[in-house]
Amino acid sequence: MIRYALACDNGHSFESWFANSAAYDKQAKRGLVTCPVCNSAKVEKAIMAPRLHRTDVEPPRPIVAPPPASPAPPVPPAPPAKTPVAIMSPQERELRSKLKELRDHVTKNASYVGPRFPEEARKIHYGETEHRSIYGEASPEEAKALHDEGIEFHPLPVLPDDQN
Ligand SMILES: [Zn+2]
Repeated sequence: MIRYALACDNGHSFESWFANSAAYDKQAKRGLVTCPVCNSAKVEKAIMAPRLHRTDVEPPRPIVAPPPASPAPPVPPAPPAKTPVAIMSPQERELRSKLKELRDHVTKNASYVGPRFPEEARKIHYGETEHRSIYGEASPEEAKALHDEGIEFHPLPVLPDDQN
């Protein structure tokens, strides 16, 4: 036995059982397959799935599935903050400790001016304020501007220990 989903020319959908597909063809040809609703013999196999029972009179339409939404690209997890690391020779370790000494010396003896460094450095350079040692922060642009103005300053060595 084979079950067909059928539709008449009036748009009625129904199901019917046949011994096999040849039996259906034979009966349909003879007008023996009729719509149970309107008795029309103009019946065709429906495109629709047999289980999908339609009650309206629209002709069956192939159901087009919307294209699957493209999955959002996976957001890579933020990489853990990395600290530059190095294996140092004894000489390098010595240099490093000297850099630290220099840094400690500067930070102990100079005034910390923070982001006002470019401004303070200019005041000192142009004699607007007393000459003193200062340290602070400057962006690369600010540092370049100071350099272009002939203001002498040095980047403080940043040591891995400082990066906490
Ligand atoms: Zn019908």
